[in-house]
Amino acid sequence: MSKSICASCSATFPSVSTFDLRRTGSFPQGTRRCLLADEMRARGMVPDNIARKLV
Ligand SMILES: [Zn+2]
Repeated sequence: MSKSICASCSATFPSVSTFDLRRTGSFPQGTRRCLLADEMRARGMVPDNIARKLV
């Protein structure tokens, strides 16, 4: 199993790379979180199916 599940919003991701791409913020500053749907669109991602967009 290589799926990643977000601890904060419970979204599942098919791989760690897609998970990382959806996350934003800084670990040291404690601001790590998922992108909002609008933020994903602004980066050319599809919020409800990020994996297909990025493959
Ligand atoms: Zn999340």
